Amino acid sequence: MSPVLEARDLCKSYALPRGTLLERQRRLQAVKNVSLRVEAGETLGIVGESGSGKSTLARLLMALEKPDSGQLLWQGEDLTALTAAELRARRHGIQMVFQDPYGSLDPRMRILDTVAEPLDMTEPGLSREDRRARVADILERVGLNPEVLARYPHQFSGGQRQRIAIARALITRPRILVADEPASALDVSIQAQILNLLADLKLEFGLAMVFISHDLGIVRYLSDRMMVMQHGVVVEEGETERVFTAPSHDYTRALIAAMPRLFEEEDHGAQRL
Ligand code: ADP
Repeated sequence: MSPVLEARDLCKSYALPRGTLLERQRRLQAVKNVSLRVEAGETLGIVGESGSGKSTLARLLMALEKPDSGQLLWQGEDLTALTAAELRARRHGIQMVFQDPYGSLDPRMRILDTVAEPLDMTEPGLSREDRRARVADILERVGLNPEVLARYPHQFSGGQRQRIAIARALITRPRILVADEPASALDVSIQAQILNLLADLKLEFGLAMVFISHDLGIVRYLSDRMMVMQHGVVVEEGETERVFTAPSHDYTRALIAAMPRLFEEEDHGAQRL
């Protein structure tokens, strides 16, 4: 069986601002030769410090940005060969949850329409009743009362907004979810709830997941396999417990060595999940 998501040698660079007009244009390699595979039902964790290229990789995997080189396959199909319309038609199969639950929801749209929007693209022929029922069902699954349908985003807390964003991502029944620091903007107690919800949904929907975080504890909790990124390069990858118990790269060892200090902090939630 082909993996749900596969990347081969993805590269992405950005132009750096020139100091003077005469200076040669220099480029920053944000992602260098990254290859990965995610199978159905599997969670791949991606860790690395800020600036290591994690979000750039997420945008490449979602085809929100074009790589300079390399290949991206969704369910075995090479995206570079698709037209824009064909790409749009495939989008429901891969969805993303972003870090910021405030910026990712349109303040002028009711929850019903916010959550139904991706469905309107994939199943435009649904009756009003069926559309409403699908939204109510997914809201219940993410732990929200369907009575919230007529409300607007500002009436919800950060954690509830992230649940709404997750409902929106899941309503088209995607095979894979890319989650880029989905809990890091939230209070610690709420973080654990959102991460537990993602873990439950993964089991319930047999969802494959790419889970991006700078927090190793969270990645250990959620991931089957993990990759460690540094300066745009994957320096280590493997089965999560193997990476934690027998890391092979100095950078991974340094990240792990920095962990216990984090957990001594009174309020850090990951270990108590
Ligand atoms: P991370 O998610 O691990 O913090 P990013 O992927 O956001 O890392 O960034 C990797 C590097 O690429 C950083 O040096 C960042 O400044 C740079 N970068 C990311 N996006 C852009 C962009 N749109 N334009 C220019 N530079 C960018």
